[in-house]
Amino acid sequence: MAKIAFIGLGNMGGPMAANLVKQGHEIWGVDLVSANLDAATKRGVKKAATAAEAAKGADAVITMLPAGKDTVAVYTKSGILEAAPTGCVFIDCSTIDVTSARVAHELAAKAGKLSLDCPVSGGVGGAEAATLTLMAGGSSAAFEAAKPYLTAVSKKLVHCGEAGAGQAAKICNNMILGISMIAVSEGFALAEKLGLSKEALFEVASTSSGQCWSLTNYCPVPGPVPTSPANNDYKPGFATALMLKDMKLSQEAAAASGAATPLGAAAAQLYALHAAHGAAGQDFSSIIKLIRGN
Ligand code: NAD
Repeated sequence: MAKIAFIGLGNMGGPMAANLVKQGHEIWGVDLVSANLDAATKRGVKKAATAAEAAKGADAVITMLPAGKDTVAVYTKSGILEAAPTGCVFIDCSTIDVTSARVAHELAAKAGKLSLDCPVSGGVGGAEAATLTLMAGGSSAAFEAAKPYLTAVSKKLVHCGEAGAGQAAKICNNMILGISMIAVSEGFALAEKLGLSKEALFEVASTSSGQCWSLTNYCPVPGPVPTSPANNDYKPGFATALMLKDMKLSQEAAAASGAATPLGAAAAQLYALHAAHGAAGQDFSSIIKLIRGN
């Protein structure tokens, strides 16, 4: 069984580390917040004094951090790249900007280490149940080295391409999701004005050309999909603040690459407005309230 350093044991990292423990791996954890580290130790993670200590003798170093600046800071300042042995694979599971992801790969390559960007989809529920979808960017050698650890926390693992391709896949997917939720919300808001019942719209759209995940799995009105957050007062789920983060990443990437994403830009602004109106902590499907004006 492998020795793995796990840096960032928050909402996602905590349960992912616990699932690696369940598979018999030895996990050495680090977090700036002692309560998060303590919670992880209750689930079998060993407490490391520093990130560099955790990386000593590790087969893999996994980071699960808030943003690109955090990943780059940990790679440059904590000493993990120097402390880890040759052959150790560095896996960044955080959702970060493509530029920072590529910087992290360059830092790892300079230190002679394999690396992957490997953001995840599936939320805290998926992290707990080890049913995440993982999208990886990096060399085939890095992907093969990381595979045994990644399959322990996921139900689907896709090698998307070279450095940064995992982050690119994540932000493109979430931009589609963010836009489609607004489209579905506008459909239901219009139906309400036209006196069309939500049940009738759902029955038609879910079996015709309006069909999409936002409608059939995550319907923004209560009723048609009993498990959607709309039935639970829009408790997340996937919070508006996290959707806004991903929409902003998509817009940074669009600006940097010259891609035209006019609906992505509009959607990012709508989620920003919704968050500013106090909905940052609500599920992102609550955007229907902004669309309706209530
Ligand atoms: P979180 O804030 O709960 O956890 C991040 C953890 O990193 C915190 O415990 C924090 O103390 C720790 N940390 C920050 N800087 C550190 C450092 N220098 N050294 C050690 N620890 C450090 O966030 P989360 O919800 O677990 O999300 C983590 C990443 O996963 C984010 O990039 C997020 O966008 C992505 N993500 C989250 C979800 C979700 O539903 N929460 C879903 C998919 C992807």
